[in-house]
Amino acid sequence: MGNALKIARIGGIDVQVHWSFVLILFYGAYIFSQGARNVVAGAIYGVVVILLLFVCVVLHEFGHAFTAKYFGVNVPYITLLPIGGLAQLERMPRKPGQEFLIAIAGPAVNFVLALLLLPLALLAISLSARTGAASFSYFGLMRAAQSMSLTGLLLTLASMNLTLGLFNLLPAFPMDGGRILRALLALRLRYVRATRIAVLVGRGMAILFVIWGIFGGIWGILGGGISGALFLLIAFFVYVGGRGELEAVEGRYILNDFSARQAVNKDAHVLYTSEPISRAVDYIMTTYQGDFPVYDLGHNLVGVLTRPRLVATLRGQGQDGRIVDVMIPRAQVPATSADTPLADVWEKMMAAGSRVIIVQDEERFLGLITLDDISELIQVMGAAKEREDTIAGGPGGRSDSSVAEAHSIADIN
Ligand SMILES: [Zn+2]
Repeated sequence: MGNALKIARIGGIDVQVHWSFVLILFYGAYIFSQGARNVVAGAIYGVVVILLLFVCVVLHEFGHAFTAKYFGVNVPYITLLPIGGLAQLERMPRKPGQEFLIAIAGPAVNFVLALLLLPLALLAISLSARTGAASFSYFGLMRAAQSMSLTGLLLTLASMNLTLGLFNLLPAFPMDGGRILRALLALRLRYVRATRIAVLVGRGMAILFVIWGIFGGIWGILGGGISGALFLLIAFFVYVGGRGELEAVEGRYILNDFSARQAVNKDAHVLYTSEPISRAVDYIMTTYQGDFPVYDLGHNLVGVLTRPRLVATLRGQGQDGRIVDVMIPRAQVPATSADTPLADVWEKMMAAGSRVIIVQDEERFLGLITLDDISELIQVMGAAKEREDTIAGGPGGRSDSSVAEAHSIADIN
């Protein structure tokens, strides 16, 4: 989140706001100034309502974050976006029971808030009912909720928390409800299968969101076009996020069967520090290889030259210079032991943001593994494994307890 501004640090978690959050403040100001007797007062009231609403969203995120921390999962930050909050979990716990509790903790916070706010709102109404400013009839309550007053604010916040809690429980993986569904399924099914089902249900929900977004927008329900656009955004998030997590879970499921040793590039071409850059260009043109180990003259690994690094170099300085000037030094490249499961190797590469990893046996360099190698392996072995699973039949086994993916909990509110 490069475009986010840190506003607080609570319980070791940074709270940051994405710049686009400002848009939703303008939206609030616009909505509440419509039909207000005093347009400026309406706009200010709107901003206050939105800010308080997002305080509730932050509390919801802290529900996730503190539950995750309880299970030993680090949560570096919470981000606020116009469509809701996002608690960045470093990983999702391996146990479905823990994922269930982490996911449900967010909506639970909103229900508790609604329960706390509602009596206060009722108290405020009964106080103003004495002066005749409000009543407990349906229209009286509607009028009170829409009024720019403490009563209106309390009623608005109570109903918004109720809506937030319920909306997030919809089974639209990777929203909270979808995670709850996956966790429940994973109690009985293999993790990868539970995820597939949850993602499928989530796609169905995304389609409903699209329909609602388009027709709700046309009919002008809930503020018209803008909330319609919001629903389309949410549908997009659910679709893309679901696909990403499914790929990660399926990838891990396949990679778990292999060790780094089995995937290492054995017959790779190597480059030497003293060679010209054109040598690497030559190899890329005439072989399938894109990433190279770099040796010094004593035949020790001293760095790596990746294709993106080479491309950037060619753009900047052309083919002048030697390999030693453009390689990534060994110390900056992640490394792993040969017996590490490939699923963990993949995770390590993702965490380091590196497209290559050095595989070593004790101190001996065995070779490189690249992201291309991993996606190739997932593709090829995935096809084989799918066939095995079909033949084996049935849900088979319990949840794959070694699954953990890079993960975030996002809420759309
Ligand atoms: Zn949530």
